[in-house]
Amino acid sequence: MTAIKIDGKAFSQGLRARVASAVEVLKGQHGLTPGLAVVLVGEDPASEVYVRNKGIATRECGMESFGYKMPADTSEEVLLAKVRELNADPAVHGILVQFPVPDQISQQNVIETIEPAKDVDGLHPINAGYLSSGLDAMVPCTPLGCLMLVKDQLGDLSGKRAIIVGRSNLVGKPMGQLLLAENATVTIAHSRTQDLAAECRCADILVAAVGRPHFVQGDWVKPGACVIDVGINRIPAPERGEGKTRLVGDVDYDAAFDVAGSITPVPGGVGPMTIACLMRNTLVAACRQTGLVVPKI
Ligand code: NDP
Repeated sequence: MTAIKIDGKAFSQGLRARVASAVEVLKGQHGLTPGLAVVLVGEDPASEVYVRNKGIATRECGMESFGYKMPADTSEEVLLAKVRELNADPAVHGILVQFPVPDQISQQNVIETIEPAKDVDGLHPINAGYLSSGLDAMVPCTPLGCLMLVKDQLGDLSGKRAIIVGRSNLVGKPMGQLLLAENATVTIAHSRTQDLAAECRCADILVAAVGRPHFVQGDWVKPGACVIDVGINRIPAPERGEGKTRLVGDVDYDAAFDVAGSITPVPGGVGPMTIACLMRNTLVAACRQTGLVVPKI
């Protein structure tokens, strides 16, 4: 058996186009332009690229992009004051502080200062609580994107067995809640899980969010399973020249490809979905804050 390669890039382009169309309607019919504010503290080159790409995507969707760059020695007090200012700004419907933040700033304090309705990253404990209670939440972008890809492949997930390897607040736990809400039977595995390979072999849906290159082996995959690889790991690639690197996921892609029913590549799988879901979340946040019906996209 060989798997279907899930094209997250194409899917994300479709989602972004649907967001852009919905934004057009909001502007034309309600005079509302959704706005996303992104705050970057420090000069981490990878974070700078992420922030730039988010700004470009926001503008491409017809939304307002507000960017704030603060020096690496910014105090927590100053950053939180900025967040409160954005909380109070009616032109800003979504707020994202790019993580990691420098050591002098508590990431958790930042998360808890963002107004939950504007928390487009879905990390505020109120949103995590809403999600686990089956209520309207702002849902973290990466697991939301993963769910869209899984549903696109499998349709109804009722009764499917799912395993998520990794239990972070950003990916693993919300992924579990989303799959549970779709009536899947969910296992969340982590570093203390016993016989992880056997657990994985039972799963119709396998989501890997570990942060270890090629961690999930081909023979851990149940034949025909849908495999979603969240991992982004940079490894040396001497075959490309001295000092070169390449990105790989948490799944041994080539081995899993021969067993799975469908699988996301890295790059080009989950990654592009994350930014598209950020656009979707900003649109949803703008509608909810202004009492408009959230368009189906
Ligand atoms: P974290 O480091 O927060 O969590 C990793 C999880 O993996 C932990 O729950 C940990 O378990 C578990 N784990 C570690 N080692 C093992 C092991 N040997 N066996 C089983 N479980 C293990 O990572 P994130 O969730 O933030 O990210 C995971 C990956 O996804 C990373 O590669 C990251 O770069 C990528 N990522 C990609 C995104 C995208 O847009 N595509 C967005 C976000 C993340 P324990 O809790 O017991 O320590």
